[in-house]
Amino acid sequence: MVSLLDHLRRRLEREGMLSVADYMGEALTHPVGGYYMRGDPFGAPGPAGGDFITAPEISQMFGELIGVWCADSWLRLGQPAPCALVELGPGRGTLMADALRATRQVPGFHDALDIHLVEVSPALRERQRESLGAHEITWLDNAGQIPEGPLLLIANEFFDALPVRQFEQTAEGWAERVVVLGPDDALAFALAAPSAANRPLIPAALRDAPEGTLVEVCPAALNIAAFLGHRLARQPGAALIVDYGPASPAPGPTLQALRHHRHHEVLDAPGSADLTAHVDFASLAQAAASAGCLAHGPVPQGDFLGALGIELRAAQLAAAAPRAAEAIGAARKRLTDPAEMGGLFKTLALTSPGPPFDPGAPAGFEAPAPQSPPPLSPDSQDR
Ligand code: SAH
Repeated sequence: MVSLLDHLRRRLEREGMLSVADYMGEALTHPVGGYYMRGDPFGAPGPAGGDFITAPEISQMFGELIGVWCADSWLRLGQPAPCALVELGPGRGTLMADALRATRQVPGFHDALDIHLVEVSPALRERQRESLGAHEITWLDNAGQIPEGPLLLIANEFFDALPVRQFEQTAEGWAERVVVLGPDDALAFALAAPSAANRPLIPAALRDAPEGTLVEVCPAALNIAAFLGHRLARQPGAALIVDYGPASPAPGPTLQALRHHRHHEVLDAPGSADLTAHVDFASLAQAAASAGCLAHGPVPQGDFLGALGIELRAAQLAAAAPRAAEAIGAARKRLTDPAEMGGLFKTLALTSPGPPFDPGAPAGFEAPAPQSPPPLSPDSQDR
């Protein structure tokens, strides 16, 4: 079997250079050696641990509150049935399982839902099947397959895994940073010739940045945002995107590789480390809004979870399991503290235009506090 590195070398022999996005796409989702195709990368640090940990794996509170957000949006939309509930990149299925458990008692909600998971990885689909055994699920290969009709959509740390292109400002204009075959057939970065065709791809706020500035652009993220914007402009619904990155376009590079919770060289041993880049929320919002939907936010994750009632939920869980109180408090802090995930991580909502989201806004995006979200099931205790 050809290794991913050999496959990339062969492509480079034929094509001369690959964009950073081509490389990132192959390294993450190549059917044989792609990072996500091989197994389950999640988990805490430690001998048996994974490479990184995400919010739903830190605490059940995260998925529960996102479930509340979905149920609240569904109620405001007038309880459409059927209604697709779609998650992009569900990982282990933990967020969806927590969201569904927390909303069991919202009358009619689960009966209305048609659950779809967009997932490339067969190994992770299997994990999701285990987490969500009690529910009927349809898996999709890509967001373009999302069925027509009323839509609720969630995506946590999905957009940061989509391939980014990198451009550098030079004296002769923007040049793309590419991957080539270097000495000893090793993969190496190089700069392609500057081209006037690159300039319109750069966010307007950064187009005249000084020489040496590096900017990342994520065409796949912009395409999905435009698709959702187009869909939500015509059909009722709400989408919640949670990820890490700045509120307005900022120079990079932010592309990083993580293996066993440590930084790893991006071009070393492709397929063996997770690759992510900051999400450009302003460009996502703009791509979606130009297609006709409304964009709300982004708001920092800490503020969003605060507005949805994470304090109250942490207190309920701690009262039900006093011995876990300290761990529950630590998880709440990790998710919400601006110095931890609460500030760099942000939430962006995309909704259909007009009522109920204009005037008004989805829960967590309005000032000062959401209208009473539906109650959590009293029996959804520590999992
Ligand atoms: N949302 C989860 C997992 C985040 S990791 C959590 O918060 O824990 C990224 C997820 O997106 C994984 O499930 C990965 O397999 C999936 N993924 C990555 N690239 C994808 C692509 N191009 N299409 C569909 N799914 C993708």
